[in-house]
Amino acid sequence: MVNERMYGLGNEPSAIRELFAYGMARKAEIGEENVFDFSIGNPSVPAPAAVKRAALELLEQPAVSLHGYSPASGVPEVRATIAESISRRFGIAASAANIYLTSGAAACLAISISAVTEPGDEVIVISPYFPEYKVWIETARCTCVEVPAHVPDFQLDIDALAAAIGPKTSAIIINSPNNPVGAVYSRENLEALAALLTAKEAELGRELYLISDEPYREIVYDGIEVPYVPCVYPRTLVCYSYSKSLSLPGERIGYVYVSDLMDNAVQVNAAVAGAGRALGYICAPVLFQRVIAACVDEPSDVAAYAANRKLLSEGLAELGYEFVEPQGAFYLWVRALEDDAQAFSNRAKVHELLLVPSDSFGVPSWVRISYCVSPEVIKRSLPAFKALMEEYRG
Ligand code: PLP
Repeated sequence: MVNERMYGLGNEPSAIRELFAYGMARKAEIGEENVFDFSIGNPSVPAPAAVKRAALELLEQPAVSLHGYSPASGVPEVRATIAESISRRFGIAASAANIYLTSGAAACLAISISAVTEPGDEVIVISPYFPEYKVWIETARCTCVEVPAHVPDFQLDIDALAAAIGPKTSAIIINSPNNPVGAVYSRENLEALAALLTAKEAELGRELYLISDEPYREIVYDGIEVPYVPCVYPRTLVCYSYSKSLSLPGERIGYVYVSDLMDNAVQVNAAVAGAGRALGYICAPVLFQRVIAACVDEPSDVAAYAANRKLLSEGLAELGYEFVEPQGAFYLWVRALEDDAQAFSNRAKVHELLLVPSDSFGVPSWVRISYCVSPEVIKRSLPAFKALMEEYRG
């Protein structure tokens, strides 16, 4: 006997992972250059040189202390360094006590959801949404409530959220810059959300937490502002990771920041530590905690993604595809050429184009293209996109 739900989760990989695995096998079969793999969000720019320098320097230190356990919440000096950086960059007096180091944003989210909910609560997500949210929400024995984004700008739909928040709601997860649509929520939009949550807290007589998942914070185009959510709504937990900003997804490093402006921050911090303990997310990888502290203000290299965005969006626009112009992250949300996104993705596969169907993000009729690839892949893929379009146009 094994746990049925866990068996199901392990036995049926996510659509993204499945397509990624298919791509690996197909590349081995017909050659890397003949497969246009747009499936996964693995950064295509290398980590900054400062990361390598910091890691090499650290490796010269005595091994016992370097590789030893840190406190569950992280190395104290690393937490202090991150708090100072948040204070400098975002104008909030962040304290080290409110930082909990984790294994990437995935762990941040699992921890944050468990920390602020009771079984039976509802957690709201904005569709289309990162598919793993539902897994983490249901693991906390809560219900995932999907509220569609406002179309066509994919900002938060405040009226729809107002209708969805009820006596069982305990948290809302937002993700800006957004995976999969690339939207960045404007200050005005976030302020409207904050006003709604404040009014609903008073009406319902319970705390409403905002979980701000922001691994793409630094990956934005045309200088667009990404407001710091804890400054807009105090009852915010930030889920941050260095997976995308410093191209370190395999090192599994990030943090939860509980806003210093939250009136019950001490209580929420204790619950974050408790959830970390209960879920086994204690003492994030120590070498990379220290690397991060050394590179805390290192800028992200966005130029390559900006160039890819231009190349792909111009190429697809010319071929007649409809898509959402991304303001951030490195995904293009493209309208499928038939209603059934899975069927469209299957037909694209015949042209060696690996596009993730939108069903896994909670909506029909779109596909997601991850353009964190080499520009050559985009250039070489355009004839395949052309052939696919011609096939549909007949
Ligand atoms: N949240 C979103 C929106 C993501 O796109 C990802 C990864 O792609 C994650 C969370 C998980 O990030 P990490 O690799 O830091 O666990």
